[in-house]
Amino acid sequence: MVYENRCRSHHDSTSLLKNTFISEEKPREYIKKLLAAQAKKSRAIYIHVPYCSKICSFCNMNRGLLNKDINQYHALLTESIKKICTYPYIESKEFESVYFGGGTPTTLSAQQIKEVLQAIYDYLPICSNAEISFETSITELTEDRLAVMKEMGVNRFSIGVQSFVDRARKLFARRGTGQDAVDKIGRVIEMGFKNTNIDLIYNYPAQNVEELSYDLGMIKELDLAGLSYYSLIRHEGSVLDKRIKAGEVVHLASLAKEKGFFTKIYRELRKSNYNLLELTKLTNQNRDRYQYIQIRNRGGDVLALGIGAGGRLGDYSYFNGMSKEMIENNKSPLSPMGRIVTADYNRIDRIRGQLQFGTLNFREIEAEIDFDLKENCAEFLAEIAAKGLIELDEKGFELTEDGIFWGNNISRDLTNRIVEIYSRGRINNENTCNIFNANR
Ligand code: SF4
Repeated sequence: MVYENRCRSHHDSTSLLKNTFISEEKPREYIKKLLAAQAKKSRAIYIHVPYCSKICSFCNMNRGLLNKDINQYHALLTESIKKICTYPYIESKEFESVYFGGGTPTTLSAQQIKEVLQAIYDYLPICSNAEISFETSITELTEDRLAVMKEMGVNRFSIGVQSFVDRARKLFARRGTGQDAVDKIGRVIEMGFKNTNIDLIYNYPAQNVEELSYDLGMIKELDLAGLSYYSLIRHEGSVLDKRIKAGEVVHLASLAKEKGFFTKIYRELRKSNYNLLELTKLTNQNRDRYQYIQIRNRGGDVLALGIGAGGRLGDYSYFNGMSKEMIENNKSPLSPMGRIVTADYNRIDRIRGQLQFGTLNFREIEAEIDFDLKENCAEFLAEIAAKGLIELDEKGFELTEDGIFWGNNISRDLTNRIVEIYSRGRINNENTCNIFNANR
């Protein structure tokens, strides 16, 4: 194996960067200046709903089971929208994507979903062809919610199916059988939601090739617009992790097996016209643009609303906190829990974000962020090309199939190398630039 351990998430590549190139400017001062300015970048809205009606066994994310607070949560969201909507920075440019994530956003009732979407359309500038996307589960896609979402312009779903195999669904504590998932997705597509995607987990305990083949067969049969595919991550504290540690569930994980499953997914779906959209995402003949992730990875703005939401406006990267009170008692229009990043941070993050798409053009990156990647990282690029992880030429590079598997390791190493270059002031480009003025 090229690396001994695999980085399975894009978060693995950002730890060094996140602690470097932070401006000393105070958040409250910056927020005032920012909100009075005109917006220039592409942008999205991220709405976090921190509730799930059932907790998956592999998950340890911060979220609550359904409780009384959820009945007021939509009101908290609409209040947050009204509080921010009149600032020039918010009013001056349209949002191209609205992404409801969680948690499970469809723990909101049909009426609550309608009210939140109505507030978004009434108070925020939304592009007429914006992507309006919901993370959801098969059991919460009820007829009344689907009808409201259709009426309110929802046009993308990401359904947390994880597997169509009943044994796996039980292991993950997902509700409903594989057939229930197939039937519900069929219904969703029949209602005209063409951009329907699922999450798929592979390399779970005792998974065999037949089980993976069954999942891939269903994806093709349902003609899904795309899928996010993840190798199981054993989150410390999750029910599944505890069961594995207690010996109740046997998980003989090996990198070779994981790579075998990855290769099968990638090759089989590529043959069926699914293309790479990002390292862990395949799209069927480019039917899913996944505008939200495009904006985020290309350094755009993300207005974050709701408990537990994280976003970024201008150079201000922030987190809303984990309680209703923190949002309600906050006197600033944006959460003060954040930091202002420097122009060098933005340059490096742009390269890191671009790598998530698996391909990079030297000239485009240089024009955008004024960094000569080809020259400054020549040795590293030659090294990973020799290992068969990228196809490199004068214009840029593309990750190979092996490179996609190790994509987050490559991203971590390249990011850390550039952090080091900037920290030592050894770049060949003398000009500086601010991401506000960058060409996009
Ligand atoms: S994986 Fe998603 S749906 Fe499952 S418990 Fe975690 S946040 Fe909720």
